[in-house]
Amino acid sequence: MFFPFLFYFSLMNLVLKSILVCPKCSFKKEETMPINSCQYFYKCDSCKYILKPKIGDCCVFCSFGSVKCPPIQKGNCC
Ligand SMILES: [Zn+2]
Repeated sequence: MFFPFLFYFSLMNLVLKSILVCPKCSFKKEETMPINSCQYFYKCDSCKYILKPKIGDCCVFCSFGSVKCPPIQKGNCC
């Protein structure tokens, strides 16, 4: 009982929606982020360009999203 509650509580502070902006065509799309993993590749819906994280970033949401990925929000790295 106790442990799942803590897990749930820690998720309540997380933002799971991020608006990704394509660096090629500036197309914006809201995406839901995976809670415990990072998304390394993302294909732009508009120009089909494959986004990859910038150097030093762990995932496409940290590089191109409006919100950092959940592991970073929790203070971890992935
Ligand atoms: Zn694009």
